[in-house]
Order: sequence, then C-alpha cells, then structure tokens
Amino acid sequence: MQQSLVEVWWVVLLCLNSADKAILVSYWRELRTLCQKPVQETGFDAPLHSLEQHCIKTSQKTVFDIINKFNIPYRKCGATLVAWTEEENKKLPDLRQQSLEADIHDVNLMSLTDLHKSEPYLRKEAVGALNIPGECVIDSYLLGLSYAHQARMLGSKICTSCEVSEMSQGTLITSLGPIHCKVTINCAGLYGDIVDQLAGIDTFRIYPRKGQYCVFGKNASPLLNSIIFPVPTEKSKGIALFNSVYNNVMMGPTAQDSSELSRPASDPKVHWMLTQKAQWLIPDLATFLPVGHYVGVRPATQFKDYQIRTYPHKRWITVGGIRSTGVSGSLGIAQYVCERLQSDIGLEPERGATNHLLDMAWSFGEDKTSVTLNGYHYPILHPMVLYGQDSMTSKL
Ligand SMILES: Cc1cc2nc3c(=O)[nH]c(=O)nc-3n(C[C@H](O)[C@H](O)[C@H](O)COP(=O)(O)OP(=O)(O)OC[C@H]3O[C@@H](n4cnc5c(N)ncnc54)[C@H](O)[C@@H]3O)c2cc1C
Repeated sequence: MQQSLVEVWWVVLLCLNSADKAILVSYWRELRTLCQKPVQETGFDAPLHSLEQHCIKTSQKTVFDIINKFNIPYRKCGATLVAWTEEENKKLPDLRQQSLEADIHDVNLMSLTDLHKSEPYLRKEAVGALNIPGECVIDSYLLGLSYAHQARMLGSKICTSCEVSEMSQGTLITSLGPIHCKVTINCAGLYGDIVDQLAGIDTFRIYPRKGQYCVFGKNASPLLNSIIFPVPTEKSKGIALFNSVYNNVMMGPTAQDSSELSRPASDPKVHWMLTQKAQWLIPDLATFLPVGHYVGVRPATQFKDYQIRTYPHKRWITVGGIRSTGVSGSLGIAQYVCERLQSDIGLEPERGATNHLLDMAWSFGEDKTSVTLNGYHYPILHPMVLYGQDSMTSKL
C-alpha cells in the first residue's frame, strides 16, 4: 500500500495489518505538512452535503480522543464570526441555518453586548455576530507528525526524499527504486493532478491558492479570546484573527490565486495589509509590531469539494483537492478512504485504529527547533510552531 499525504497517514493506522504494510513516500527530505492555519474547524460553513462536510463531521466524532491520547496542544477557544456591515449582517441567519442543517446545533447569533463582553478589545463598530463555540486552535504540525509516527511505530515505512516519477503496471517508479503495491493512494497535495496523470487519470487541475499570515508576539495575546472570522464570501472563508495555541496573535490566511507550486516568499505589501487589518479589528494592537510572517499554498481545484475517487482497475485511489480543511477533516478522510479500500478495491482492514493506539511521548528539543516523539527526532518545520517556541515580542 502506498501513501503520500499527511491527512491520509491515518489510513495506515486504520488498515494496517501484519500482512499488509503501508509505505508512505514523500519527495520532501523531512516529514511535513503544508497546513498553515492551525485551526480545527467544525465545518459549520463547509458546503452542505459535500464530501468535505461529511469528512469534517466524521472527524469531529473521534478527533478529540486522538488529540488527547497524543497530548497534542489545542485550545477550544471558539470562534466569533463578525458582521461589519448591514449587508454582511443579513447573511448571519443563513449561516446559522446552514450549520443547523450540517447538524451543528451550538452556532448562535450573539447580541452586541455579549460580543463586546467576550471580546472587549474588538473594534466597536460591529453590527452583528455569530458564536461558534466548537472551533479550536491546535498544533496541526504535531498532529500530522503524530499520525505518521504512530503509523511508523505500528510497522509502516516512511520514505522521504523519494519522488514518484512513473507508474508502470502497478509498480511505482521512484527515485529510491521501484515499489510494488497492492494499491496506490495518491495524496500528493499540490502535485495531485500531476501524480494522477502518471496513472493516466485526468479529472481535475490544481489551482494553487496562496495564504499569507502576519504574526504578532505573545505579549499581544490578552487582546483576543476567540478566533475572529469575517463573514465568508463565495471564494473564501476570509482572513481570521486568532491566538495560536502557543499564544501568538496571527492574522491570516489570505486567499490569492498563484501560479507557484512551491512555497512563495511573503509579500511585504500583503504583510502591511494584514498588519493594518489586525490593528483595525483590535485597535489596541496598534501599539504592537508584528514579529513575523509566513506563507502556505492550498491545493484548490476547479471544484468546490474534495476530489476523492477510486479506480479499482488501476488499484488507485486519488485523494485530491484537500483545500483548507485537511487537518479538520483528516480522520473523516481516512475513514472514507478505508471504506473505499474495502468496497471498491476489496482490501479488508484487519484492525481498527482506536484499539491499537500506542502511547505517545513528545517533547521539544532544547534548541526549540526539533521535537522528539518516542525517541525519534523530527525537525520542526511549521512556522507557527517555530514562532511559538520563540519568545519574540514586538519592541514598541
Ligand atoms: C494557508 C493554509 C491554511 C490552511 N488552514 C487550515 C486550517 O485552518 N484547518 C485545516 O484543517 N486545514 C488547513 N489547511 C489545509 C491543509 O493542511 C491542507 O489539507 C494541506 O495544505 C494539503 O495537504 P495535503 O496533505 O493534501 O498535501 P501536502 O501536505 O502538500 O502533502 C503532499 C505530499 O505529497 C508528496 N508528493 C507530491 N508529489 C510527489 C511525488 N511525485 N513523489 C513523491 N511524493 C510526492 C509531498 O512530498 C507531500 O508529502 C490550510 C492550508 C494552507 C496552505
């Protein structure tokens, strides 16, 4: 079995059995995920009846058991979706209705008095708000790493610096040699369409969507309690202001169409815009300077939903277009892929994940740039975690 995607590492845990080992390959030198916004979403605004919504909902049922079992840092801070114009305000009842239809029953309209009680530093011109108590901030990097590490401890193999360049009669040709597999799961993120084409499949295109963040120091964190969302538009959820799980105030991500697949540099103009926007939302932030910035790229497609498809005759499953909810939907994606493995490919998983989870002990290295999981050292590659380990504060 062949894996290459962060979100689907979990599949390894669900289907692994003694006779059927999984190999996860990545062309990167280190294990990492592109997930840049460390938010565990409820899916309250995911397109109704979409596969994305289904996966997020499925994930919600068990994700906190796993997060607690792995000791992943998270904070259930909730989110506040704020309308700043009457036009935006008119959309709030529909958003609440949408979450009810998605079976999320605790999303409620807030009075302005309650809004300012819960967010006393927020700009006073809001005209309406929705409270979404289930949203969390999380160390999404450690979660992805923990999935992979569990899989490794349970006997699967992880090959890094291993690029898949060809598919020939069920054999993957990689830079580390051929890999014969019972089934290939293409989870190549930004390269999902290119890897599909190796198997003669051409059903979607990746349209990279850049997301930039502006990071403030931890000394600004008392100014904010929940994740502040704008009213979403057709194109995006909008730019959020939140305290990371390590207490850095962050503004982002932007949603800019990009032609670059590799991570582009931060744009100073966008950084300035994000700084202004954050300081507009919380006027007291004006006395703090940002301490950093970073960029991620989402694998959007021409479709508004995940692109998970099976090709039984090719013994191939594509897990593509996992745009910006890959962490929140991870367990649901894995569950869905497992079901496809059983029903479409005829592979019968022999053991379930939850009965076989091994204890995880992790700690940050003294240099604060690495993390140790049960004796294995992994470099920290996620800017949110690196900023979180740094005690940088603005110097005004
Ligand atoms: C700005 C931004 C904000 C986000 N915010 C959130 C959020 O708040 N909440 C949330 O849940 N999710 C969020 N996400 C989404 C999220 O993490 C996505 O799911 C993720 O970006 C895509 O992950 P992926 O696992 O599909 O792909 P990747 O993480 O890109 O993994 C793809 C893998 O495929 C490998 N690969 C590709 N081609 C080859 C090849 N030819 N040979 C070998 N290996 C190959 C790569 O090495 C890599 O390991 C965000 C993402 C971004 C960028």
